[in-house]
Amino acid sequence: MPLLAKNDVLAKILAASRDDLAAYEHLATEELEILIDAGRMVLLANPAHPDVLPTLIGQPGRIKINANIGTSPFICEPGLEIEKLKAAEAAGADTIMDLSTAGDLDAIRRAMLAASRLPLGTVPIYAVAQKHANAGGDPADFSAAELLEEIAKQAEQGVDFMTLHAGVTVRAAALAGEGRRVLGIVSRGGSILSRWMRKHDRENPLLENYARILDICRRHNVVISLGDGLRPGAGADAGDAAQWEEVVNLGELTLTAWEAGVQVMIEGPGHVPLHLIASQIQAAKRLTHFAPLYVLGPLATDAAPGRDHISGAIGGALGAYHGADFLCYLTPAEHLTLPDLSDTHEGVIASRIAAQCAEAALGRPWAVARERNISEARAALDWEAMAVAALDPQIVRRRRQSHSHEKECAMCGKLCAIKMKEL
Ligand code: SF4
Repeated sequence: MPLLAKNDVLAKILAASRDDLAAYEHLATEELEILIDAGRMVLLANPAHPDVLPTLIGQPGRIKINANIGTSPFICEPGLEIEKLKAAEAAGADTIMDLSTAGDLDAIRRAMLAASRLPLGTVPIYAVAQKHANAGGDPADFSAAELLEEIAKQAEQGVDFMTLHAGVTVRAAALAGEGRRVLGIVSRGGSILSRWMRKHDRENPLLENYARILDICRRHNVVISLGDGLRPGAGADAGDAAQWEEVVNLGELTLTAWEAGVQVMIEGPGHVPLHLIASQIQAAKRLTHFAPLYVLGPLATDAAPGRDHISGAIGGALGAYHGADFLCYLTPAEHLTLPDLSDTHEGVIASRIAAQCAEAALGRPWAVARERNISEARAALDWEAMAVAALDPQIVRRRRQSHSHEKECAMCGKLCAIKMKEL
């Protein structure tokens, strides 16, 4: 049975927003229904999120950008995280993920839900692991019941999508174990679950309680973002058995979720050398039945700390061109520290550049028009029109400022090639 017929909450949200969504995505309303029913597109919107902006993820709609924010034990300033949320929104992010691991996590999450209409995502396992770590225990001391309670609570609070690493099985985690990889398990959620399974000698609690989780998610229209807990954290680990074992598991979990009327996205790699990106994206999409693919980067080189937003944008452009639907930003702070306000802005813009490259190459009308508009503005030396068509208007206006009294720019000055045609 198609998804919409099994999920009343989703059907209601779509009915109320379908015309606006269709116009924004340049698709007919019937196409939206077909794509959502088939699981190829998801509609993010938990009705408990105040005034949430229903947002579709899935090509051939617009490629969307996520910005990760959140406190850390070293830098815990909830007010700064709200400023970062606003900076990400201003730079053009479509969604926000709260990855906070320090401070009052409930208060931080509620403040983010109140501060923005953009769909908010979380990783609920962080909250239960943090609770035990703060109490002096082991992050893997939590029970399956605590994890389920946390998921239910966050769904009631209005979280729109949740990363759940249900595909990290005992077998899959063993494939990423000692001596198998250069960098082992790099996902926080994946490493906590792997530890939990070893400590408790049990299978993944998200997998064992999947039916109950699906019931919670359907009631609140929470989209499950099936986490890539075993994603490669080094180019050398990309495409190994652990990664694909998990992807196969995610494919099975996707079918089970659809059967229960729950929407699903698939999280993807990670660090992937440039020559493997196309095959990785295509195989992941196929094995997960063409559910929307949400990629972190992918980072096309491991060797760019301090500029990982560029590494991620190169991989993201290629990934999106080959079918990735949703790009999680990387910032210049990746692998080094917690992003600041400027990192947040740069990260969103870098991912938007990746999406623009892919969409222009795919012939999406809005992206082709943007390319044309900025080129025509350049031909006319119309700096304000260039700013309007640019992905980051602020930088155009700021860099131009010191020579704004000149028609041409300071690169060639009076030898401006574009002015040479004027006799
Ligand atoms: S001065 Fe040179 S770089 Fe600047 S607009 Fe003219 S041709 Fe382009």
